[in-house]
Amino acid sequence: MPQHYALRIVPAAGQDRFTGNAQIQIEVAKPVAAIELNAVDLEFQKATLDAAPLSVRLDRKRATVLLSKIEGSIAPGRYRLEIEYSGLIAKHPIGLHQVSYREREGEKLVDKTMLATQMEPVSARRLFPGWDEPAFRATFDLAVVVDEPLTAVSNMPVSAVTPLPGGKKEVAFARSVSMPTYLVALFVGELDYLEDSVDGIPLRIYTTKGKSARARFAMAATKEIVAYFNAYFGMRYTLPKLDQLAVPPGIFGAMENWGAINYNEGRLLYDEGDPSVRQQQRIYGLIAHEIAHMWFGNLVTMAWWDNLWLNEGFATWMSTKTAERFHPQWRSRLRGALWRQDAMTDDARRITHPIQTPVKNDARAMDLFDSITYSKGESFIGMLESFLGEDAFRDGIRRYMRAHQYSNTTTADLWHHLSQASGRDVAAFAAPWTEQPGFPLVKVEQRCVNGGAEVTLRQERFTLNDPRAQRLTWKVPVTLADATGAQHAVLLEREPQRLRLKRCGMVRANVGHVGYYRVQYDPKSLDLLARELPRLEASDRLRLLLDSFALMQAGQLDAGRYLALVDALGDEADPRVWEHVTEALRFLRELIDAPADRADFDAAIARVLRKPLTRVGWDARPGEPVDDALVRRQLIEALGRAGDADTLQEARARFAARGAKPIDAALRPAILSVVARHADDATFDALVQWLRSATDADVKNDLRVALRGVSESERLRRWLERLLATDELSPGDAVYDITHSGQDSGRGDVTWQFVRANLPAVLAKASPRGRAWVLPEAAQPSADAARADELVALTKQHLDSGAYYLAEKSADWIRLRAQVKSREAPRALRWARGILGT
Ligand SMILES: [Zn+2]
Repeated sequence: MPQHYALRIVPAAGQDRFTGNAQIQIEVAKPVAAIELNAVDLEFQKATLDAAPLSVRLDRKRATVLLSKIEGSIAPGRYRLEIEYSGLIAKHPIGLHQVSYREREGEKLVDKTMLATQMEPVSARRLFPGWDEPAFRATFDLAVVVDEPLTAVSNMPVSAVTPLPGGKKEVAFARSVSMPTYLVALFVGELDYLEDSVDGIPLRIYTTKGKSARARFAMAATKEIVAYFNAYFGMRYTLPKLDQLAVPPGIFGAMENWGAINYNEGRLLYDEGDPSVRQQQRIYGLIAHEIAHMWFGNLVTMAWWDNLWLNEGFATWMSTKTAERFHPQWRSRLRGALWRQDAMTDDARRITHPIQTPVKNDARAMDLFDSITYSKGESFIGMLESFLGEDAFRDGIRRYMRAHQYSNTTTADLWHHLSQASGRDVAAFAAPWTEQPGFPLVKVEQRCVNGGAEVTLRQERFTLNDPRAQRLTWKVPVTLADATGAQHAVLLEREPQRLRLKRCGMVRANVGHVGYYRVQYDPKSLDLLARELPRLEASDRLRLLLDSFALMQAGQLDAGRYLALVDALGDEADPRVWEHVTEALRFLRELIDAPADRADFDAAIARVLRKPLTRVGWDARPGEPVDDALVRRQLIEALGRAGDADTLQEARARFAARGAKPIDAALRPAILSVVARHADDATFDALVQWLRSATDADVKNDLRVALRGVSESERLRRWLERLLATDELSPGDAVYDITHSGQDSGRGDVTWQFVRANLPAVLAKASPRGRAWVLPEAAQPSADAARADELVALTKQHLDSGAYYLAEKSADWIRLRAQVKSREAPRALRWARGILGT
């Protein structure tokens, strides 16, 4: 058992290697022949146990090293294990890695590099040899040798700085609290910072040079969030400081390193001079998610990766709850319901898994960072809070935190404390949701009897493409609103339930949108809802559209029926509704092959979308509702996708005039995507040039998304070649853009052919953990079952078995789309021709 690590890290001048010294205090509980610990890509110069030399044997396959005494076994007791070693500084975000970026110095663009770490789930073993599993908590003393002008940041505050010869210094950090290895963090670079405090906790946000003013929104959000969490958890944040770092693009969204959270700067920084509600919501939500981990995840940690869902589900749920509380105008809960759709789509398929899933070994831990872990996890936590009541739920969380601080738990520990606080059997309620795959379809049937109504609720498992799925049931808390608006709460179990209502008329199930289930109404009740659609609450409309779309994918509803609901929206003002609808239209559009047919479908879409765009217009009006900016962006993007001539003309005019009148941030993604999709050579070159010189992460991101949508095949191919051959983007970002190009423009085939023809080079450019995604992502836009077979065959030929799950998942999606295509494409087309009167 490790108890304490003292680590000294010295990066080499070229920043591609480092040397390390690890002194680890361990306790040996019973005699052992050897000590086994994790290590990847480390070279060992010397290892001793209480100064006695050890022999070293690396096992690359298991990512371990075996240390044995020259003679005899190791007796029980406390020891000091000392290891001198060296390792690699990666170009991808795994372990200690480089981040390359460009900075503007006057008129010049200067290349810069900073160092950062990404340990979760299993990369701490690339920085130091150790027991790299979440249950092996220990304290850490970390020291790093860096060039004198650089700033070093880690989990704890700096405790000492010692000048060294040659313009170097050694920065030592205070001893950490007891924590798992995956939370260890180290950042080194030319950094600025913004400083503040909340409840006596010093806060800093570090940025690269010249960007700290852009962290003001994030700082204000942090203060609001930390103060709320200090109260909610009933325990103050426990470390002596909380730093956050904005790292240039090339890293993932964010990582909850204890006391030193890092973010892709595009997800944290924000130019307040150019306001965008979209960015505010995203930044706020991500900060709340990461800071929630300071308690839930860091202070109390899952014992093993099979309980990862609890960390991620809780943090995601807490983030939504916090945003809803302080910024109700963002309607974060409704947004959360929309994001839940990805999880429900995955969870209704053959390849799904229970949120609590056995993880055989740590190499498979990465497979679990998926929509089911985050989003189904979040939804279940939300249902549980609603089932137990807000106060009882919070009290249970407080007891759990107090009882298990600085230690590791399983889900059963949380259920225990929630049961104690609420007096209910939480484990019995939870088990079907966390241990079974899938979720229920709740069927609502109304019978009118003498003016009153009899409503029958029953459940069955909902699947999209798995008719032979195991039959399962859940304990489903159903909320039902009747024709008078009165609400009824029912716990639906295996047997159908009957409710008598005073009045016959419109009923709505899953009001409040908390339930993780789909609803299917009897035909008459559905007609009533459809007729009332424009007069319902936006949340009711969204729920009906979402469930209808899923039923259409499952073959239980005609695409024409779904599209009629879309047509009935009129000048709908809710951006969540449009976000869903524009995605749904995109899904259907890609199932229609013949150019003439697609043109008809596009013309029908344009006719439906022009009306709501007329309401909001192209320019923000002073004092307009925050939602209008979001609606405007979505409609312009969708109209651009449909090739609407007016939209294209206006977007081009604004793009051409950008020198005199910069495109405002809220509309930028839409304008760039419309312009790129229909770009000629000059526009394409201008976009690429802009991307090369942009230093703002958000602008860069908008340009990347736009270029992925270039629809002219030859131009797209040129862009893919450039992404592969140059270092203009970080390698991870370049591979992401290659595999996601063409998805939005019906050019998925161009991407697939390119990836197939250049597979060794694309795989070599991808990070070790990104490799498994390359083929599945590139194949994804297809609706051709033969592509699915090809994907699986190519994966087996070029990758090891760790990649098979993702390939099967993507192949299953392609086969599902092929089924939907043969059934629904003619129906969607019939709807379009009906609209056009042709
Ligand atoms: Zn998280």
